[in-house]
Amino acid sequence: MFKVMIEPTSYDLCRKAVGRAFELFPIDVRGKKVMVKPNVLRASAPQEGIATNPAVLRAVVEKLEEMGPAAIVVGDNPGVFSYGANEMSFEMTGLRDAAKGYYKNIGNDAVQVDFNAEYRERVGVSREVLDADIVISLPKFKTHGLTVMTGAIKNSYGILPGAQKAMLHRLAGGPMRFHEVIVDVFRLRPPDLFIVDAVVGMEGNGPASPDLRDIGLILASDNAVALDATIARMMGLDPARLMFLQRARELGLGDFDKAAIEILGELKRIPDFKVPPLGGEAMADNEFISQFIHSRTILRPKADPEKCTACGTCIEQCPVSALSMVNDLPTVDADTCITCFCCQEMCPEKAITLQ
Ligand code: SF4
Ligand code: SF4
Repeated sequence: MFKVMIEPTSYDLCRKAVGRAFELFPIDVRGKKVMVKPNVLRASAPQEGIATNPAVLRAVVEKLEEMGPAAIVVGDNPGVFSYGANEMSFEMTGLRDAAKGYYKNIGNDAVQVDFNAEYRERVGVSREVLDADIVISLPKFKTHGLTVMTGAIKNSYGILPGAQKAMLHRLAGGPMRFHEVIVDVFRLRPPDLFIVDAVVGMEGNGPASPDLRDIGLILASDNAVALDATIARMMGLDPARLMFLQRARELGLGDFDKAAIEILGELKRIPDFKVPPLGGEAMADNEFISQFIHSRTILRPKADPEKCTACGTCIEQCPVSALSMVNDLPTVDADTCITCFCCQEMCPEKAITLQ
């Protein structure tokens, strides 16, 4: 039987709800590397409700400090509108401050791992995620134009640094196959605990919709499928009709049947909760987003021979070793590059442009 906690709270009082989550789903963090991954879609203000609220992250970090000592890392790889702006995204969302010194830009170092060859043989995953003994995911209770809702499974999409996210979007080609892709990314490293910020949720055409909803809850579970099924039911959706949940169940990652889930709290459907169409048309047909994704995935770095001093910093910093020095000028292997923008960010001479 999978368990899902539903605990009423507010941002001011969420420490208690977070503490309850750790009581119900105990983990021993002492002496371990613990990676905490909030949902940081892009640089946005906390009141926009796009990212996990800093109050929830702070409560989790403080609880881990109390339960430790543990080697805590807080990080995420923001989405398509904030590639190359990891630090700025954490600053603006208030999550850098809430991380209490444990924030790290996890987009600077990646490990290549085997993936579903139908889309891409290998993908780069942030090293901090793969090296962690314990991964704690902090999703936001939100809708999503392509996958209908974003919760525990979709939050793991951010373990991929840079434009790989957009690249896989493009390779998937449509909402149906994108559901498969997000589950394949999720199972590269399923988190051990999920604590969902549902104090303020998002309805309408998320994941960056202006339609916020006061829900006043924290949800938690150690199983992503059961948790996402519970979020779906609260939104008035039938989990069995969500393709990513069907696939996750087929792969043995959990269950969405009511009979398989014990609710610790009260599951209530949120009245008149606005959700995007089930087929993902809300985003698939958005010409601007499709073009933007395309534009981000075709960019590659190019060093300006007039400015470059051949210092090698960009080559050392590239997380996937896509750069090599050719005639004193860093040169990119376009197929290996994941368009993470790290080389551009690190170049002391500002010699790199993306073309
Ligand atoms: S070449 Fe630059 S943009 Fe490409 S993966 Fe390496 S650091 Fe990232
Ligand atoms: S970091 Fe900048 S200056 Fe140094 S080798 Fe790379 S492009 Fe040239």
